[in-house]
Amino acid sequence: MCEAGPDTAPGRAGVNPQGVIGKKRDGGELTDAELEYFVGGFLDEGVTDYQMAAWLMAVFLRGMTPGETATLTRLMVESGKTLSFPEVPGRKVDKHSTGGVGDLISLPLAPVVAAAGVPVPMISGRGLGHTGGTLDKLESISGLETGLDEDAFRRVLRDVGFVMGGQTEELAPADRRMYALRDVTATVESIPLIVSSILSKKVAEGIDALVLDVKCGRGAFMKTEEDAIRLAGELCRVGTLMGKEVVAFVTDMDAPLGSAVGNAVETRVAIDCLRGNGPEDTMELVGTLGRAMIVLGGRAASWDEAGTILDRALDSGDALARFRSMVEAQGGDASMVDEPDRLPRAGHEHAVSAPRDGFVTDIDPFALGEAVVELGGGRRRADDVIDPGVGVLLSKKPGREVKAGEALAVVLASDPGVGKRVAGDLNKAFTVGAAPPPPRPLVRHLVTADGSKPWAGAATWDGRGSGKPARTNP
Ligand code: URA
Repeated sequence: MCEAGPDTAPGRAGVNPQGVIGKKRDGGELTDAELEYFVGGFLDEGVTDYQMAAWLMAVFLRGMTPGETATLTRLMVESGKTLSFPEVPGRKVDKHSTGGVGDLISLPLAPVVAAAGVPVPMISGRGLGHTGGTLDKLESISGLETGLDEDAFRRVLRDVGFVMGGQTEELAPADRRMYALRDVTATVESIPLIVSSILSKKVAEGIDALVLDVKCGRGAFMKTEEDAIRLAGELCRVGTLMGKEVVAFVTDMDAPLGSAVGNAVETRVAIDCLRGNGPEDTMELVGTLGRAMIVLGGRAASWDEAGTILDRALDSGDALARFRSMVEAQGGDASMVDEPDRLPRAGHEHAVSAPRDGFVTDIDPFALGEAVVELGGGRRRADDVIDPGVGVLLSKKPGREVKAGEALAVVLASDPGVGKRVAGDLNKAFTVGAAPPPPRPLVRHLVTADGSKPWAGAATWDGRGSGKPARTNP
């Protein structure tokens, strides 16, 4: 493969920006040196925004090999600070979800895994489009601070066993600049660019292992199972090349998760989960992702052992106590954890009623996510202010029997006019049929760097364990 560009470069001899762009445009594989030159140039202004935008489109159209993606990820990590926590014993493990509707899993998951003895330095995001964000949900607890500086992040991790913060200016700044360009050049939906963006932030946060929840369906970024498996596979391959242990689960997002969508209402469901009263699907996902994190964290040798440890963390109340401690340590009002009725709740309620007797056969998660944005619980623009108390409470999930006129959902609105309109629009999001729908498995596939297999519980997991080095957790 030829080198990128004639020897006229303003940078390293033999390489210039248009040469790198042209090589990728023509489907070439960029060398480490070419990527270093191009990304380095972008960071020190030698490569302009319009050249980066052209290159991003070339990557969007031509793709990148796992090796190129790993190099790009490394360069994005090296553009900022990398955290490490030698003062906290044990393998540090995090979870990343590609985003869904009603996906509050991080809130109960991190304290459960911490209570199982695995430190979780979690850096999360805000709501994006119709999908909610962990930081927005947490901030419905008054006073809770997610913009932690490094010292505070370290202190909470050390004292509580987990911490939930946001990305700082210093972590992977190249990702922030490149994402801003992708957002306005129709280049977000590129697997290598998504992979490097997600992994750069995760690698920079100083973890040893990562469990991914890659959603598929109408409420997800990836609409089909095939695309979700492809993204999950690439995340695992590149993460492994970056020296991290990574596994991914492809999970269903063709229906909303849990029993509520919105910020404070989901925080409340998270507290229910920690008290042992969580919705079945939410708890299934907490159990699956949590077991994987406990094994990757070196606290259990098998899926079943991890399950026993996870159940103990919940049943003993330790996970709930740790959540409360994190809220206190991050400046939040911990009495809201003790009395979730004190969480914000919008004052106007509007029912979405069943049009006929029958069974709920479908709930469109995208429509539900959009409804919450319309109520003010999400952002249309990056600087929009969130209303934490609005949301939708789901009275009936798919498969449940319903009578004509009975509530399918209740819309919580701050503005009664908006609430009425949203409740009217939401009628279309629910389908009531004569018979219950066939059951849909929530966890679909287990994906590792070696490939994917349909998920069938413990047996699937045990299969992947062979040949992996033993993990230890001091
Ligand atoms: N989330 C990210 O962090 N980056 C992407 O590119 C897409 C989703």
